[in-house]
Amino acid sequence: MKRGHPSGSIRHLTQNGQKWCFVCQQYKDIVEFYHNRASKDGRASVCKACKGGYEKERQALYYLKHREELLPKHRESAAASRHRYSLEKVSKGEGGK
Ligand SMILES: [Zn+2]
Repeated sequence: MKRGHPSGSIRHLTQNGQKWCFVCQQYKDIVEFYHNRASKDGRASVCKACKGGYEKERQALYYLKHREELLPKHRESAAASRHRYSLEKVSKGEGGK
């Protein structure tokens, strides 16, 4: 089973204090990468610039995707509890019929 980096490529992920960013496809100074304890070399695999853009894009996409769920949330939860209350009242009131 293949998982993660092929063993050959990990060697040149970092060299001379530089690290390969697979997004912009170039070596960048190690300080251009965020710390990442989960990573083998302790740095993120994407440089700060790319990571920043990626995060922003991801957030924008998330927002666009969930915009309709996100926006009316407050109003809807209040309305839902009111609605449930009135439903209970109604079902109790009409239950005897
Ligand atoms: Zn990059």
